[in-house]
Amino acid sequence: MTSSEPPLVFIVSGPSGSGKSTLVRKLLEVPDTMLSISCTTRPPRPGEEGGTWYNFVSEAEFARMVERGEFLEYARVFGRHSYGTPKRMLELARAQQKDLVLEIDIQGARQVKQKLPEAVAIFILPPSRQELEKRLRDRGLDSEEEIARRLERARQEIQCFPEYDFLVINDELERAGREIQAIAAAVRCRRAQRQARAQQILQSFEL
Ligand code: ADP
Ligand code: 5GP
Repeated sequence: MTSSEPPLVFIVSGPSGSGKSTLVRKLLEVPDTMLSISCTTRPPRPGEEGGTWYNFVSEAEFARMVERGEFLEYARVFGRHSYGTPKRMLELARAQQKDLVLEIDIQGARQVKQKLPEAVAIFILPPSRQELEKRLRDRGLDSEEEIARRLERARQEIQCFPEYDFLVINDELERAGREIQAIAAAVRCRRAQRQARAQQILQSFEL
């Protein structure tokens, strides 16, 4: 983006294990993008540091932030922990002139689309149920019981993909990565997005 363009908001959702975080990292390789750091009441996993992907907060702090209207969206995910996108992330993106990438669940995506209809929603689909199960197991983060729960939830979540603007099927990582980066490039070239730049160019022709 340039100083005359508002920041774009990219939403990335998909079932657990579909490759959201992996593909968000690919999207963040595109210059002038930044990750929206969510707040969550979930405890950090081993090796996870606050302030990089999440800010870890207590239930009480999260509730205070909700009361003060500090979230662009928030939701209880898997019925267990709360997650939310602070409005402040939008201000930061605007100040730094960067496009903002939100990795959030479907409930959150709906809220953002309601408030910011121009946000670009991208859904990540795994190539199959079998491959999703394999990736969850190989990732080694979850118990068998948790994997079964995530697979059942995935069955429900994947039915929501028609609500999204773009669909990336994460079979071959290199290709899927190129696709998510291509989405960002294409959206940045939309005429409406380029209006201010185009105006400046026309002015240089004294038009
Ligand atoms: P999510 O963020 O959606 O839960 P991750 O990005 O953590 O998913 O990916 C789940 C696991 O699958 C990780 O171990 C990741 O390295 C692996 N993975 C992601 N994309 C691919 C792919 N295209 N092919 C094979 N493994 C993948
Ligand atoms: P995890 O705890 O495995 O990192 O994430 C669990 C789920 O929470 C994922 O589906 C992720 O997309 C979602 N999530 C992460 N941050 C947010 C957020 O700020 N808002 C919402 N609504 N969901 C989030």
